[in-house]
Amino acid sequence: MIRITLPDGSSREFEPGVTGREIAQSISQGLAREAVGIFVNDQPYDLSRPIDRDAHIRIVTFADEEGKAIFWHSSAHLMAEAIEALYPGTKFGIGPPIEHGFYYDMDIAGGHMLTPEDLEAIEKKMTELAKQDNAFERIPISWEEAVAYFREKGDEYKLELLEDFKDREITFYRQGNFTDLCRGTHIPSTGRVRALKLLSVSSAYWRGDIRRKQLQRVYGITFPKKSMLDEHLHMLEEAKKRDHRKIGRDLELFMFTPEIGQGLPVWLPKGAMLRETLVELLRREQRRRGYYPVVTPHIGNLDLYRTSGHYPYYSESQFTPITLEENEEYLLKPMNCPHHCQIYASKPRSYRDLPLRLAEFGTVYRYEKSGQLNGLTRVRGLTQDDAHLFVRPDQVHEELHGVLDLVQFVLSVVDFHDFKVRLSFRDPEDKSKYVGDDELWEQAEQALQDVAEAHGLNYTIGIGEAAFYGPKIDFMVRDAIGREWQLGTVQLDYNLPNRFDLEYTGADGQKHRPVMIHRAPFGSLERFIGVLIEHFAGNFPFWLAPVQAVVLPLSENYIDYGRKVTQKLQAAGFRVELDERNEKLGYKIREAELQKIPYMLIVGEKEQATGAASLRVHGKGDRGMRSIEEVIVEFNDLNDLDKVAQAANDRAKSAGMAGDEDDEMAIEHAVPDARE
Ligand SMILES: [Zn+2]
Ligand SMILES: [Zn+2]
Repeated sequence: MIRITLPDGSSREFEPGVTGREIAQSISQGLAREAVGIFVNDQPYDLSRPIDRDAHIRIVTFADEEGKAIFWHSSAHLMAEAIEALYPGTKFGIGPPIEHGFYYDMDIAGGHMLTPEDLEAIEKKMTELAKQDNAFERIPISWEEAVAYFREKGDEYKLELLEDFKDREITFYRQGNFTDLCRGTHIPSTGRVRALKLLSVSSAYWRGDIRRKQLQRVYGITFPKKSMLDEHLHMLEEAKKRDHRKIGRDLELFMFTPEIGQGLPVWLPKGAMLRETLVELLRREQRRRGYYPVVTPHIGNLDLYRTSGHYPYYSESQFTPITLEENEEYLLKPMNCPHHCQIYASKPRSYRDLPLRLAEFGTVYRYEKSGQLNGLTRVRGLTQDDAHLFVRPDQVHEELHGVLDLVQFVLSVVDFHDFKVRLSFRDPEDKSKYVGDDELWEQAEQALQDVAEAHGLNYTIGIGEAAFYGPKIDFMVRDAIGREWQLGTVQLDYNLPNRFDLEYTGADGQKHRPVMIHRAPFGSLERFIGVLIEHFAGNFPFWLAPVQAVVLPLSENYIDYGRKVTQKLQAAGFRVELDERNEKLGYKIREAELQKIPYMLIVGEKEQATGAASLRVHGKGDRGMRSIEEVIVEFNDLNDLDKVAQAANDRAKSAGMAGDEDDEMAIEHAVPDARE
């Protein structure tokens, strides 16, 4: 008998050769129906694959990230089967799962270019093949036999892949009439796919190399239930409408231009206004919480980053250093931490000076490949709402709590109530990516976990997600249409203070090492605003809207009065514009609605006679006439950041801490690399 240990720690005995399917059945029929794969000692297995020794197992379903990856990767095989049936002689590159769905890169027979109609025909074929409920069969095979198979088939792409797999165990997978070179894992049979949609076709160079052949990449998504597909397609439609790149253009918030450079956002007046409002909100809060502002340059001596370890540990995401003639080398600032360490080190510190909280809206530069750039969410220049807290070891817990409070505050003020927390730890199997010794890492990870527990955070653990100098708490926010975004972060770091030899004099007169907390509640202003635009679909709350109200004179005769109203409201501190164009009122209202301006103030004869304006609220319609004084009172109420903050704090408190109650604590592992 072998002993199988379940995730809850309980264990059961089985005959050697038991399969994942049988184990699932022994737990419940429901689980057996939903299971898509099993992790055996952290290795993904097909449910039909025999297990022949003691093992820790974890059965995954479509609800799990790994389960989705297995489901979608298997669906790529299903799509390939359909395409091979429709276009015999097609050659296949790779077909991995992605965040939402899968793709397959293919060299379609005869060089045929797929059209939208073709995609429909492929979908139909896939549905037919799914209904056949063909099993995915795992076939271990020798390297020579594998080569012979694809040579016979004439698929040079698979043959090239095989060249890299010479000393690996090779497996084929077969479902129906389709055989593919693949490591696995797959769903038990094609019948699990109950709903599918092919989303698009684009081109992709073989192995991402522009000198190689251009293949066609078909993207698709599948689900075990029809309703899930409907929901997803609805979400995609909503996402399209909310695309921050489109709204950013329509509302004139920001722009990108090749003249300035790829991935370098330029903030237009309205976007800059919005950004300043957010900065001001956080500045006020930081002042209240005992932070000091600092400002540091955009570049730094390369040696600074050698000391910190950003060079070379972080060099993949950096621009190449700038070399001056005197052999001086500089780096565009990839992170603010080393600069802040220098500020700490600029004078002797005593235990009484700590905690020292240094905050900077620091612009940093990251090298992203042009293909990776995406609006504001993936850029090459970004401003972090960064701060570094230098604390005594006995202050770590309290300061972490304070920082978590601040992050929660920021998220609730902008209406993000649904978020998850991930403790991002180092991968103990791959220490080459991290600085510092094991003991400090364990200490830091333990401290973060303790604080997360004490703070009542509902968290998961992400192995291999840490920064190179320390573990993190990452906040993953769910937006209005259910998408998840990684935003704020809190990091605990025992390493940089060592590397910079930072110290303070303790009460005992001895030198001690401070601990660093890095934190950025927004993450970066660019990404945060990109997400906010999509979350609100551009309908910003009054306090955040770049233009809060527009005054609309009924005709030319009332422009002077309109100007007076505008000036009065501007003098009261509001962001108000006057639309004095010679256009019909209906047209101006429509424009203001499209610009998503929260308030319209219409002024004509009656309004002028009584010192009033007729209010119209964006998306809600007319509210009747109000005196300008009344309008100011109402606006003041909506604009008062203290009130906004207070309401947010109250909401955050009453909501208790964090995320989905039904999300149980779980250990995440990296999604298995299921590529062929
Ligand atoms: Zn596969
Ligand atoms: Zn930092």
